[in-house]
Amino acid sequence: MDINYNSDVIVIGAGPCGIAAALEVARGGKKVVLIEKGEHPGSKNMYGGAVYDSALREVFGNEVDYLPYERIINSYTWSFLNDTGSFDMTYKNSSSRHAYAIKRFNLEKWMVEIAKKNGVYYIPNTLVEDLIIKDGYVTGIKTSLEEYYAPVSIIADGVNSLLARKLNLRDDFKPYDMILSAKETIKLEKKVIESRFNLSEDNSNGVCKMYFGGLKEYKNIFMMSFLYTFKDTIMLGVGANLADLSKNKLNINKIIDEIKSHPDIIPLIEGGKTIEYSAHLIPETGFNKMPELVVPGAILAGDAAGFINSVHFEGTNYALISGKLAGEAALCALNNNDFSVNTLSVYKKKLSKSFILKDLYTYRNIIHKLYSRSNSLSYYYPYKIKEFFEIVTSANCYSKSSQFKKFLFNFIKDRSLSELIKDIKAFSRCAFDMLSGK
Ligand SMILES: Cc1cc2nc3c(=O)[nH]c(=O)nc-3n(C[C@H](O)[C@H](O)[C@H](O)COP(=O)(O)OP(=O)(O)OC[C@H]3O[C@@H](n4cnc5c(N)ncnc54)[C@H](O)[C@@H]3O)c2cc1C
Repeated sequence: MDINYNSDVIVIGAGPCGIAAALEVARGGKKVVLIEKGEHPGSKNMYGGAVYDSALREVFGNEVDYLPYERIINSYTWSFLNDTGSFDMTYKNSSSRHAYAIKRFNLEKWMVEIAKKNGVYYIPNTLVEDLIIKDGYVTGIKTSLEEYYAPVSIIADGVNSLLARKLNLRDDFKPYDMILSAKETIKLEKKVIESRFNLSEDNSNGVCKMYFGGLKEYKNIFMMSFLYTFKDTIMLGVGANLADLSKNKLNINKIIDEIKSHPDIIPLIEGGKTIEYSAHLIPETGFNKMPELVVPGAILAGDAAGFINSVHFEGTNYALISGKLAGEAALCALNNNDFSVNTLSVYKKKLSKSFILKDLYTYRNIIHKLYSRSNSLSYYYPYKIKEFFEIVTSANCYSKSSQFKKFLFNFIKDRSLSELIKDIKAFSRCAFDMLSGK
């Protein structure tokens, strides 16, 4: 093809995925342009709050020692809410450094600086409007002002990925395959957060809380909320399946307000001021609806390809590693001067060997299985747990045995046998998938 290329690779989107991809290409000694629509790195992005040490080190090596994080997250609580309280499980490990709480603005700024130092040509404030295709190959991109040409483009433009849709790599998303999430950044004094969550002043510990259910009026939708402690802010968010929300005519802003007025949450955020509000989609297409990942001249990675594991709140690690692997595949194509699907498919092979496709495969049915038992997870069991612990903790004037028998009788009576069987089937299917995964 007779094309005057401006660079070897164009990367679209400077989230964790695009930055990792561009850095890999630059380290391989090739010319790479990284284009981001936001004015500042991270300005268009949002998440709950944790990035993971292992994936960061794979991409940035020892530079991670200088990551401008706010706290190390090493206390995790899984909390099943009912109307007046909760049943909690907490795991703490004060010496763990697996996860860092860092704002997206600071994370992407730090990553972009490293990428630039390594030779990535970063162009912010520029929307890629379309891809240029010649003889069936993606050969460049169009912005409102210019055209850029490169034999490989890496598409890392996030969950909505207009470019993947333009290439017909994937359909318009279905509400059933998306979680809509809303998040508030709540400002509190640093020392208030430290005393409230029992954290040290040196930021060497922090908290992640994950909440299930809790609101009686939403008993038929699968809903998860989260809370992360930062230095002088708390991130509080909630996510629910988009189809459930629209079917039940529910507003995610109203749900977050109601979560904020739950008796377990009120004392954690009391006196705080909401300084930022954001909403974002999370892809749930997973392994079963994975788009085509390569076409001649282009590779799809990160959220744009649906690489996320929302059961474990993991997404940035999938983005970083898939970006790095996309960069490696681009280098391989450049070295062979072959940009066909045949050569670029080395990306798929690398993904298959990594945790990304292994875990996506393991979790391929789990989230939708959990959706199918929304009422059980968000309502029935949390409220039954409440009933059970009321018996355990209330020193009343009834015999314990009679109360436990009554509890067991009601447990079976309140749930039809067919619903119980569906629960057992769904949960054992999830356990089977976990154990039989790759
Ligand atoms: C509420 C919520 C909580 C989450 N919590 C966590 C968590 O705690 N930990 C975790 O690991 N993950 C979490 N995630 C997931 C994580 O945020 C994503 O998986 C990750 O950001 C994906 O990275 P990416 O680079 O693929 O996409 P993105 O981060 O979305 O980046 C895409 C970039 O492309 C740019 N872009 C888009 N279109 C164009 C275009 N046409 N031209 C130029 N630029 C463009 C965007 O501005 C953006 O900067 C959460 C997500 C949400 C929504």
